[in-house]
Amino acid sequence: MTHCDICNCPPEPDAKRYPAARMRSAVNTGFRPAAAVRLYTSLANVFQRGVGIEQWVEQVRKDTTDWVLCRSCATELDEHVEQPRRRRWSLFRRR
Ligand SMILES: [Zn+2]
Repeated sequence: MTHCDICNCPPEPDAKRYPAARMRSAVNTGFRPAAAVRLYTSLANVFQRGVGIEQWVEQVRKDTTDWVLCRSCATELDEHVEQPRRRRWSLFRRR
């Protein structure tokens, strides 16, 4: 039984897989999925110590396996990836 690698809920049968490199670059451009923020914030409350979204980010940076994402997490990632690309593109079109 697989789970979404971000929010842990069971993904749809046609769930998308994302290569680790793609997740890493999304995280490096500021991708912080709401489900991971929620999960890590509640962990921080349980353990009363420095567990937070930055720890999730560290895990993503070390991870080398594909990510299976449910539809809502995949949508969030896709939207994040599209936005910076548009912004970056405009930097190259200054003249
Ligand atoms: Zn999910």
